[in-house]
Amino acid sequence: MTQRTFTVAGAGPVGSLLSISLARHGYRVGLYEGRPDSRKTNIYQGKSINIALSDRGWTSLEKIGICAEAKNRAIPMYHRAVHDIDGEVTALPYGREGDAIWSVSRSGINEQLLDIADDEANITTYFEHRLVDVDFETAKASFRLGDEDELAVQPDYLFGADGAHSKVRRLAHDLPGCSHSQTVMPQCYIELNVPADSDGSHKLEKNALHIWPRKDFMLIALPNTDGTFTCTLFLNASGDPSFESLTERSAVQAFFEANFADALDCLERPIDVFMEKTAAPLFLVQVSPWSFNDKVGLIGDAAHAIVPFYGQGMNCGFEDCAELDALIAEHDHDWRRIFPAYERARKPNADAIAELSKRNFVEMSDLSGDREFRVRKKIEAKFSERFPELWTPLYSMVTFSPDVPYSEALRIGDAQDAVMERIMALPGITEDWDEQYVMDRLFGLASETFGDRK
Ligand SMILES: Cc1cc2nc3c(=O)[nH]c(=O)nc-3n(C[C@H](O)[C@H](O)[C@H](O)COP(=O)(O)OP(=O)(O)OC[C@H]3O[C@@H](n4cnc5c(N)ncnc54)[C@H](O)[C@@H]3O)c2cc1C
Repeated sequence: MTQRTFTVAGAGPVGSLLSISLARHGYRVGLYEGRPDSRKTNIYQGKSINIALSDRGWTSLEKIGICAEAKNRAIPMYHRAVHDIDGEVTALPYGREGDAIWSVSRSGINEQLLDIADDEANITTYFEHRLVDVDFETAKASFRLGDEDELAVQPDYLFGADGAHSKVRRLAHDLPGCSHSQTVMPQCYIELNVPADSDGSHKLEKNALHIWPRKDFMLIALPNTDGTFTCTLFLNASGDPSFESLTERSAVQAFFEANFADALDCLERPIDVFMEKTAAPLFLVQVSPWSFNDKVGLIGDAAHAIVPFYGQGMNCGFEDCAELDALIAEHDHDWRRIFPAYERARKPNADAIAELSKRNFVEMSDLSGDREFRVRKKIEAKFSERFPELWTPLYSMVTFSPDVPYSEALRIGDAQDAVMERIMALPGITEDWDEQYVMDRLFGLASETFGDRK
């Protein structure tokens, strides 16, 4: 039998991982990336942009046979370090002792996957090849090289792994039966930097994700291995305060002094950077179907761009790859069965993490303000410690429980919410939260709701 061929458009983390998986199943893969090769051109200009990778991401890499060597270059973050407005810092653990999310360099993990792809005989990678057209009947694709030259390729199948602004997805919008939606969030973001101390050490606690939650806006900081932190300021696009309202340098200075006084001591030129940078929008994309004519599919952000408030976008894209990897074997390379099975397995989960991520802005940005919220978290943590078979907090299900699909986490999380609302309605709960009667009441309600879960 002749070797079947795949074109993968987009050599981001998901396209690279998908290509490795396909190549290891025996397909001949052409991996096409619009940008130059970052390993040769320093397109990131020495900037360390990082993201949080959690158990779902690592487990998916391992399922595809990529040993999680990247973990050696990642920094575990065991808790949130919450900076309140007076500069007091409180540690809020992410889960049980030892549970951590990992700060990894976005370009670093991408380049590591590209290195592995280079070692696969079945993969050829083409940089500066921008996909411009797809024939959804045949999977034939056209790429632009530079300003004028075009190249047409005719694979057996094609995957669009070309990110949140996916060209493949936008071309598919015109197909009959394709529906899509885009939700633009009120918040935009800019990235700021905390440089390393003069001896190369971290200026803030290294093994934590730092958050300055201010209800309608927030600043976060994730550590890099070179002693720096990458910070992200999430702020409304319009209203007051907002990127639109803060146009005067003095107003920006006053905004930082009033809200992030302790961060001002360590941020690198925050006012200049705020004035210079254009804030990037945040949006979610949903599309249906995820495959067309059993020839062309979507994966990663191209299929489900979500907002970053749960730190799950890349984790979710890696899970897509692991699911597909398993389905190729299960359905013996029959793509008429694999494409629909992939969508059935993954779309409900992508929709669920999109919803959870949207909701998590409120949770993150209100962390320090709301006393009831903190009491509630303490009750849940204590109960879950005592009765793990009855209760895993939502954050732990999403982040530390790769065996629980996102859709299941959302469903159970909503049921837990209803139970906790009844607990939080008990008179005097903020004072009594540590009393035995609270545990007893919660045990009764949780047993009623989840007792037969297993
Ligand atoms: C501020 C922010 C913070 C985030 N934090 C986290 C986090 O903590 N944890 C987490 O898991 N996720 C996080 N994410 C999400 C994560 O970055 C994405 O989910 C992930 O990068 C998706 O990978 P991808 O390969 O699908 O898409 P991308 O990373 O966007 O890669 C797509 C690739 O396709 C290429 N491309 C685009 N168009 C074309 C074309 N026409 N032809 C050829 N190539 C093309 C692009 O150049 C790019 O290399 C965050 C996102 C943002 C914006």
